[in-house]
Amino acid sequence: MDHAHTSHTVRGYCALCTAHCATIATVTDGKVVQLEADTDHPNGGVFCIKGKAAPELVYHPDRLNYPLKRTRPKGDPDPGWQRISWDEALYDIAERLNFVRETYGPRALAIAKGTGGGTSVSDVERWLSRFINRFGSPNWVSTTHVCNWHKDTGFTYTFGVELPTPDVAHSNAFLLWGHNPSATSLILAHDIVAARKRGMKIVAVDPRRVGIASQADVLLQVRPGSDGALALALIDVLITENLYDEAFVRQWTNGPLLVRLDNGTPLVESDLAASGSPEKFVVWDEAAIAPVIYDPATGNLAEPSARAALLGEYRVRSKDGGEIPCRPIFAELAKLAARYRPEPSESITHVPSAKVREAARLLAANRPLSIYMYNGVGQHTNATQTNRAIAVLYALLGDFDQPGGNVVFPKAPMNVVSGKEFLPKEAAAQRIGRERKPLGPPAKPGNCAAYDIFTAILEDRPYPVKAILNFGSNTVMSTGDSERARTAFRAAEFAVAVELFMTPTAELCDYVLPATSFLEMATLTNDFKHRRQSRLHLQYRPAVVPALAERRSDTWIVFELAKRLGFSRDFWDGDVEAAYH
Ligand code: SF4
Repeated sequence: MDHAHTSHTVRGYCALCTAHCATIATVTDGKVVQLEADTDHPNGGVFCIKGKAAPELVYHPDRLNYPLKRTRPKGDPDPGWQRISWDEALYDIAERLNFVRETYGPRALAIAKGTGGGTSVSDVERWLSRFINRFGSPNWVSTTHVCNWHKDTGFTYTFGVELPTPDVAHSNAFLLWGHNPSATSLILAHDIVAARKRGMKIVAVDPRRVGIASQADVLLQVRPGSDGALALALIDVLITENLYDEAFVRQWTNGPLLVRLDNGTPLVESDLAASGSPEKFVVWDEAAIAPVIYDPATGNLAEPSARAALLGEYRVRSKDGGEIPCRPIFAELAKLAARYRPEPSESITHVPSAKVREAARLLAANRPLSIYMYNGVGQHTNATQTNRAIAVLYALLGDFDQPGGNVVFPKAPMNVVSGKEFLPKEAAAQRIGRERKPLGPPAKPGNCAAYDIFTAILEDRPYPVKAILNFGSNTVMSTGDSERARTAFRAAEFAVAVELFMTPTAELCDYVLPATSFLEMATLTNDFKHRRQSRLHLQYRPAVVPALAERRSDTWIVFELAKRLGFSRDFWDGDVEAAYH
């Protein structure tokens, strides 16, 4: 290094996807010139080409540098962008938002955010949530419905928690399904390769022979969209070849509970005796050849020595003296899976049956098993049920929350600032899309689908939405039917984009605000994934370089708008650093 130059390094992490790889940035003469992996960090040692190129985001000539205001109508090919001051922009936007709130009610505002998988939204997400909750609108828009809903919710419906961290360092087998961590989540790819070197087996489900899939011991090249049939074929092999963990299924799953064949509902104690509880279930004791009550509140059988049947069909005497035909839930699963036996389902999945059998045997013989799966499953209409089939498959092998399985590791605690307490329950119930999808993405904050918001803008259904704020969300391009999206943006009374570049969405907004890239802003996170040691990590990431031109962090913009809307007290009087303490 020439002695005339000054250089220093700044430790941080890359925010361009959910992996949050640890980084060391080199700053020479005030300019960030290099980003490389920080090896002395629980999430360190790994870095992808996108992270490496991140300094280009800071200096790209097309970056937005100043607040802009549209001066010509939205239909006009020339928006007539006029450079304005931050004060003017924030004042105008707050005025317009106040107008919307007072005229149409707070629910007439929607806020769209970028995806955590491809933007640095996680740096600001919690503040966006606090802002919209405080504003009083439930309509927070994301791409969750085509991204992670199936994974997070499919596992939650099955296990009670989202897919826990794969403890790859202690696994003897790994099942990778519809995900290529070599292209994203490089930390996981790195750890899989390291485990493979010590002998861990890999089964990959991927139509393409890429990344980890190209190194798999068994690669199942599934026909896209038929993954559910494949999961059931694997389940069938585990059951018919008796490869599943019988003790785990008996002890930890609802497999032994009896289900009525006359009406398809679970058999409950009150079916057997008028004084019985409708909350207690029934299993069949193979030893006593009699039904036994199971109490989910205690997790115990009324007869501790009972051996619950998993297969077979039974007739249980009802309180009326009749007989109720029943089968254990596990037997129902076996029946369903038998319809998708590897041989007949070849025509659905296009995976040779011998490979399916080989994969199931390999997984069962090399426990503990951990798994990871993602978008390959997600971007289909049957994604959540497919995910549940994969979760059931995983449950059959009994390594849930065991060393070397998928483990619920503790996470570094952080105060929750999402502001859920600000949004009245009645308002949350009105989240757009919830009326038609009560169990789907809109059931959770932050998960409205953009196409539903467009219906609200264009057709006032289920009620009118008048304003849309876009934080790092190129909503026009990240949803199907972009022409309809454009029509909706033109029709919206008021729209703002907070962006790095002039995107097709920003072009249709009334104001465009220049955001900082993650290298130009500070943040605090405990959101490190994929490794046991990183789950407990909490890190303050300073700005590597000061923001260029008049760019401002999304967080700063949220706090400033909050101040102007009268929410100062709930936003630390606009002091972002104070909010981190
Ligand atoms: S894997 Fe994600 S977090 Fe890591 S360097 Fe690449 S983009 Fe950044």
